[in-house]
Amino acid sequence: MNYPAADAADFTDFTDFTPEQIERSRAYKRDVRPLVIASTTLGLAVPLVLGLTPAGAGLVRAAGDLAGGGWVARALLGSLAISLLGLVLRLPLSMWGETVSRRWGLSRRGWGLFAADTAKGFGIGAVLTAAAVAGLYFLLRHGGDGWWVWAALAAAALAVLGSFIMPVLIEPLFNKFRPLPGGELRDRLMALVAQSGVPVRDILVSDSSKRTTAANAYVSGFGKTRRLVVWDTTADSLSTEETAAVAAHELGHAARRDVLVGTLLGAVGGAVGVALLAAALNWTALLDAAGVTHAEDPRSQALVRAVLAVIGLVGEPWGLAYSRHIEARADGYALDLFREPDTIVGMERALAVQNIADLRPRRYEVLLRYTHPPIPDRIAHARRWAAEQGVAIPKSLSAGSKETDAP
Ligand SMILES: [Zn+2]
Repeated sequence: MNYPAADAADFTDFTDFTPEQIERSRAYKRDVRPLVIASTTLGLAVPLVLGLTPAGAGLVRAAGDLAGGGWVARALLGSLAISLLGLVLRLPLSMWGETVSRRWGLSRRGWGLFAADTAKGFGIGAVLTAAAVAGLYFLLRHGGDGWWVWAALAAAALAVLGSFIMPVLIEPLFNKFRPLPGGELRDRLMALVAQSGVPVRDILVSDSSKRTTAANAYVSGFGKTRRLVVWDTTADSLSTEETAAVAAHELGHAARRDVLVGTLLGAVGGAVGVALLAAALNWTALLDAAGVTHAEDPRSQALVRAVLAVIGLVGEPWGLAYSRHIEARADGYALDLFREPDTIVGMERALAVQNIADLRPRRYEVLLRYTHPPIPDRIAHARRWAAEQGVAIPKSLSAGSKETDAP
């Protein structure tokens, strides 16, 4: 997290939340923790059990036999079978998660929309994965010793293509987007856009309130597909100035081309992942464990998923650290553009309460799961900025009464 150099003052020891808000955040975290543990465990255990025992190869063969047992049938139907098994095993957890979100007033989805979201997500993921698996085995069988170079290039190209088309092909399957309607908020945000000099064609509002009470905004796509999206929940619950503070942060992403750079880093990561996968598939002990003799046999695809799961697990903290870095940078951009640290702190507080953010995350939780710096760090960042700029430092919620029940 490249925050501006701090001076001697510590800007973290302020009271920014009421004891009730802190207790609510703790209670929510207690409720969600078993879910996080269970879904993390399942997410790793399923690919490892299928890939490092002959179970996955057996499932692929059985599925492929339904359509003649050729390599294409094994690649495509085997992939669908593994995806389907994953869905069936994950479904109880995701329904449990849904009921927890509802109990806390975060989710507004009925079971109909939950089912539609799950079905769409599964359909898109399963079809794309099956196509990628078929492409992988085509290259393994016909690409010679250099198959993995082609596969690495394909993984990189798919990462770029995916990020480019995401806002126009995938996001509209889940949400409706409309231009932010004319009025005070639109005037304020367009003035901010003009002030920033960032080329933003339009600001869109998504119908996120059909699923959630949480508030957010994001930028996605790049080039012609770049857009700044404000969730309708944000526009509804924050003041015009607080929503402008959120937009200033998103403009920071656009100004630094964070989506494009992140996509290119993802492309490099995908290529490196394929190279590591190629090395793993040369390892006879792994093939033996999976019960296959040759990597080019599509029955090895469960092993491929296991190897990719491990690579993802090792790579994720690095990706998250990069994400927190660009998020802190966008916060810095927003402070420089907006120059109202009080409003920014107010916005951070409002979002933290509305989204029931963890107000005291532990360091390992941040390292393993956080895409953004924790809220207290972001608020401290605004105070540090104010001190460096010589403007009034945003006050505590109740000045003078320091929070004492530190964990
Ligand atoms: Zn951001």
